[in-house]
Amino acid sequence: MLPARKLVLFRKQLLAWFRQFQRDLPWRRTRDPYCIWLSEIMLQQTRVAAVIPYYEKFLARFPDVRALAEAPQEEVLRLWSGLGYYSRARNLQKAAQEIVANHSGKFPRDLNDALALPGIGQYTAAAILSIAYSTKHAVLDGNVARVLARLGAIRGDLRETNRWRNLQKRADHLLDPKTPGEWNQAMMELGATLCTPRAPQCLLCPVAKFCRARQLGLADRLPEKRKKRATEEVTLAAAVFLDPRGRTFLLPPSGARTRHPINNDIAPLVSKMLHFPMVRVREHATGELQHFLAELLPAVSKNIFRLEPLSEARHTVTYRKITLLPFRLAVAALPTASGAKVVALTNVSSRSALAVSNLTRKIARAALLSRAATAG
Ligand code: SF4
Repeated sequence: MLPARKLVLFRKQLLAWFRQFQRDLPWRRTRDPYCIWLSEIMLQQTRVAAVIPYYEKFLARFPDVRALAEAPQEEVLRLWSGLGYYSRARNLQKAAQEIVANHSGKFPRDLNDALALPGIGQYTAAAILSIAYSTKHAVLDGNVARVLARLGAIRGDLRETNRWRNLQKRADHLLDPKTPGEWNQAMMELGATLCTPRAPQCLLCPVAKFCRARQLGLADRLPEKRKKRATEEVTLAAAVFLDPRGRTFLLPPSGARTRHPINNDIAPLVSKMLHFPMVRVREHATGELQHFLAELLPAVSKNIFRLEPLSEARHTVTYRKITLLPFRLAVAALPTASGAKVVALTNVSSRSALAVSNLTRKIARAALLSRAATAG
């Protein structure tokens, strides 16, 4: 912890740097809690440059909490399509509905009320409340934790409970109570632009003289690496039914009312959204997919389950490395199943036409590419 005089200087230097060099980002031009909330949710696990167009499109369609609360979920997911981690969008809308029902449509000012909303954790609540309402909550996420770990030359796994608590105390200690929202953004900006995970730019850093890691020559070695979860290799075989009009058949998101057997293994991999019929392959892709289709569509003659292999594709979801084996099934008429949807294959591959996961979109693209190759 810094003694009082140093603390004043530290705050002054970081804020002066932030005021001069901060990036001009759309959510920094407002203090509307809805906009700040939306940006914070979109920025989770996603780069700033990727978020900007989605943020602008989303706000144009849902300009306030009420518009979002009242929208059909499918439309919300469609505008989110491509950003990934769709539970963020579902929670955002659920929270908007709670805000309309319990807080007269205004994002709550109280920390506990904010934390009670779906999808809002400690970091997000502190960021929204400090930036929108100037409440004195210091943010702590991986980015800020890295800066704090270097400033204090803290070793070990930062996510370990006691160490994380200690980092929160340090963040609270540094927080400038006169301008907490700006302060939090300054800390985040330092982590995002100079005190980056690799090759921190200490020569340009406004608080370099306070940094223990720099003094000890440890800046690029901290924070120490966490033990990584082992990668899991997954192979999926997917059935792309195709009728003469170029339409295909997608199964409903898991949890939707349906009478056909749900392949629960698959739901998290397709972000619980519309998806091609598919199985996790244990040994023989073709046989296992045919078996699954026979169970899924008992009324359909097995003769139509003639599987034509298409080009493989790859996909990664967190620690899972997925190999996608799409198969085409050319049919005169598409089968029907409860909750399933018939759509043009080109709409499945397009980012804006339909709310599906990136994995489903990759399968559609592989099918379209193979079709083009066949036609050529
Ligand atoms: S001196 Fe370097 S390591 Fe220390 S806070 Fe600044 S950028 Fe990060």
